[in-house]
Amino acid sequence: MNAHDTSGTEGDGSPVTVLRAPIVLEYEYSAGQSASRFLRAIAEGRLLGQRCPVDGRVYFPSRGSCPQHAVTFGDEVVELSDKGTIVTFSIVRVPSKNIPLELPYITVNVLLDGADTILMHVLDADLDDVHMGMRVQAVWKPREEWTTSTENILFFRPIDEPDADYDSYKEHI
Ligand SMILES: [Zn+2]
Repeated sequence: MNAHDTSGTEGDGSPVTVLRAPIVLEYEYSAGQSASRFLRAIAEGRLLGQRCPVDGRVYFPSRGSCPQHAVTFGDEVVELSDKGTIVTFSIVRVPSKNIPLELPYITVNVLLDGADTILMHVLDADLDDVHMGMRVQAVWKPREEWTTSTENILFFRPIDEPDADYDSYKEHI
């Protein structure tokens, strides 16, 4: 049966049991005040977080309010480093439609310096080298290609710094 056949039965009179009806919804999403500020900053190569007024934790990216305490963040922004620490990682060996990377690749949860929330991204490194506590830094697109998009950061890459102390990131595992 197709979408125009409203008889409710197959040609032989038996009940229709499956109806395929592909639906496409197009959204135009307004970023809102908080995300707009974040995206305008990233177009300048700056990473802005926001601080929860209740416990002082810095959220990045910020959605303008604290999901834990249900309070709105004020206008204060916290400028973060594009360096951070790998909290956890996965080596991906299964293709995904949305991620056009050559397999295998490494996804990482990075705790940016100055932030209290983790950022998921991709790491360019040897599969044998990646480990928890590894220090990494964002690799950005060429400056002339920056837009108001998180895609300005291409991936993270290890940097020559000693591993972070386990205690400094263990609560984010
Ligand atoms: Zn909070």
